[in-house]
Amino acid sequence: MKDRINIALFISMLVIFGLDLVSPLGVAAGTPYGLVVFATIWTKRINETYLVALVGISFTILGYFLSPSIVSAMHAVIINRALAVIIIVASALLVIRHKKAHQHIEDLNILTTTDPLTGVKNRLAFDRIMGEEIVRDIRYKRDLSLAIIDIDNLKNINDTFGHDKGDEVIKGAADEIRNAVRKTDPVCRLGGDEFAIIFIETDIEKARSLVETIRNKIAHNPILEAAEVTVSIGIAKLDDNDNTATLYKRADEALYLSKRQGRNRVTTVPNAANG
Ligand code: GH3
Ligand code: MG
Repeated sequence: MKDRINIALFISMLVIFGLDLVSPLGVAAGTPYGLVVFATIWTKRINETYLVALVGISFTILGYFLSPSIVSAMHAVIINRALAVIIIVASALLVIRHKKAHQHIEDLNILTTTDPLTGVKNRLAFDRIMGEEIVRDIRYKRDLSLAIIDIDNLKNINDTFGHDKGDEVIKGAADEIRNAVRKTDPVCRLGGDEFAIIFIETDIEKARSLVETIRNKIAHNPILEAAEVTVSIGIAKLDDNDNTATLYKRADEALYLSKRQGRNRVTTVPNAANG
C-alpha cells in the first residue's frame, strides 16, 4: 500500500513537471506540488515528505531554465517561481508538524499500554483489547480463548536468588510466551508474575496445545531452568454471555486448579455450563 502511494506521488510530480514545461510561466505550479506534498500524509515517515518537497522545489527551479521562451516579462516568471517554492515549503512544514504530532500521540499510546519490565502489553491494554474483541467475537460467532499464566513460586525465587533474579525470570517467561504466539494474539502482563494470552479466532483445543508448548519451553529454558522456573496455566473459552470479568474469572479458576493439582500444568475450562 505504502509503495503504491510512493509511486503515485512520484508519477504526480513527473506529470506536474511535464505540464509546467508545456505551459511556460509555470502558472500556479506550486499549488499542485503543494497538494502532492500534502498527499505524503498517507505515508507515515517524515523523510518522504522532505524528499517530495525537495523534488517539487527542484522541478520548479529546473522548469524556469527548461521552459520554452517566454511570453511575459522575466520578473513575472521569477516571482511566480518564487511563490511556487513558498507554497511547497509551507505545505511541507504543515505536513511535517502534523506527522510529528501524530507520532507523539502514537508514542504516548505505546507508553501507556506497554509494561516497562517485559515490553509486553499491560493491564490497561488487556482491558481495552478484551472489551473490543469480546463484542466482535460474540457478534460474529468467532472463537476466542483466554489463557492466564502465573509463574510458580516466584516468592521463593526472589527469596533464594534475589529480586533482580525474580525480575529476570519474569522477563524470560514473557520472552518465551511472546516468541511462541502469533503476532495477532496479544500477550499482556496483568501484574506481578501473571500474564494473559488472548487467543483470537482460536478454539480451546488449539489454545491448549499452544500453551502446552509454552509451558514446556519455559520449564526447559536454559536460563530459567537453573532456578527451576515453571508456570501454571488456566484456559477458558468465550461464551455468548461473557464479558471480560466473567471470562477472566473462569480462566483464573482453571489456573487455580493447575496450582492446586501441583503446578507446572495446564487446566482447561471449556465454558460456563460445563466448567
Ligand atoms: P504461586 O506458585 O502460588 O504463584 O506462588 P508465587 O510465589 O509465585 O506467589 P504469587 O503468584 O501469589 O505472587 C507473586 C509474587 O511475585 C509476589 C511477589 O513476591 C513477586 N513479584 C510480583 N511482582 C514482581 C516483580 O515485578 N519482580 C519480582 N522480582 N517479583 C515480583
Ligand atoms: Mg506466582
